[in-house]
Amino acid sequence: PGFVSLRGVSKNFDGVTAVNKLDLDIPSGEFFSMLGPSGSGKTTVLRMIAGFETVTAGKISIDGEDVTELAPFDRTVNTVFQDYALFPHMTIQENVEYGLRTRREPKAQRAEKALEAIDRVKLAHLANQLPHQLSGGQRQRIALARALVLRPKVLLLDEPLGALDKQLREKMQIELKSIQREAGITFIFVTHDQEEAMTMSDRIAVFNEGRIEQLGTPVEVYEKPASSFVAGFLGVSNLLSGDQAKALVGRDELVNLRPERLRLHASDYVAAAGETTTEGVVTEVIYTGAHTNFVVQAQADSRLIATSLNEESPEQLHSFVPGDKVVVAWRN
Ligand code: ADP
Ligand code: MG
Repeated sequence: PGFVSLRGVSKNFDGVTAVNKLDLDIPSGEFFSMLGPSGSGKTTVLRMIAGFETVTAGKISIDGEDVTELAPFDRTVNTVFQDYALFPHMTIQENVEYGLRTRREPKAQRAEKALEAIDRVKLAHLANQLPHQLSGGQRQRIALARALVLRPKVLLLDEPLGALDKQLREKMQIELKSIQREAGITFIFVTHDQEEAMTMSDRIAVFNEGRIEQLGTPVEVYEKPASSFVAGFLGVSNLLSGDQAKALVGRDELVNLRPERLRLHASDYVAAAGETTTEGVVTEVIYTGAHTNFVVQAQADSRLIATSLNEESPEQLHSFVPGDKVVVAWRN
């Protein structure tokens, strides 16, 4: 079993199944993400691991100990929520020390641990400020320091970056990941944002309706989605099945062609060795700054999206316009 282990865990809310017979093993030190649409059961799983929610069925263990019936404060886990809930009248250092005080640790030791945690989130210079003097991103980091200072074996994070704007959020994703690695704590992270999960995680569980639809590394779930739900949820994708798959690859199976794998060529293009090609007509050219998406109407009424990185292939950016006949090629 994993460091954090769930066996047959279910949760019903008055007849509604929020989590359905979940088995899950998370090794120590892993950055593990639960990714899925709203209502898929992610928060409920996290709250059951934390002990804020009882299980309807199943068992949860942490570091070999069955915690299923334990109260939240008897579990060696800590939770970081989206609303940071700092005490407004206490300094940053006092906020971070608070949990140690309730554990009755001696004053000098408290101060030392708190300053170390504040330093870990790179805010040592703000230790004596009050929460209202900090930005949203800084407050988020203090909330993290407050959890880290208690040295939990497992840290649970429920969409902790959800309130931040995009730029700050992307910066925090990278910082959070490096804090996790340095601290060596197991992180269980909930998000509905696929890019966020891809950026930070060692492994991702993709949730759908209270079950795990796929579990794997970011590369595995992105390159080899196990179902059309996973492929669709992970972003723009060329998903083909039935007649369209037969027309394009000669087999009636679920085919997932990532847009960045497709190359466009003029209509007289001859396939190179190891390439599959199909003919089509460009219907739209969408410039997004970093890359350009070409929408191609192809055989059997299929629609393919090809993405080109603009700095890599400026010639492609200029060479196709809507109405052009093209050959779409990809390596098998
Ligand atoms: P997510 O975090 O993936 O958005 P949740 O775990 O919050 O999903 O919710 C999963 C399902 O359980 C939803 O259908 C939600 O409405 C239901 N649910 C969650 N908490 C409660 C509750 N306290 N009472 C009743 N239903 C709930
Ligand atoms: Mg949630």
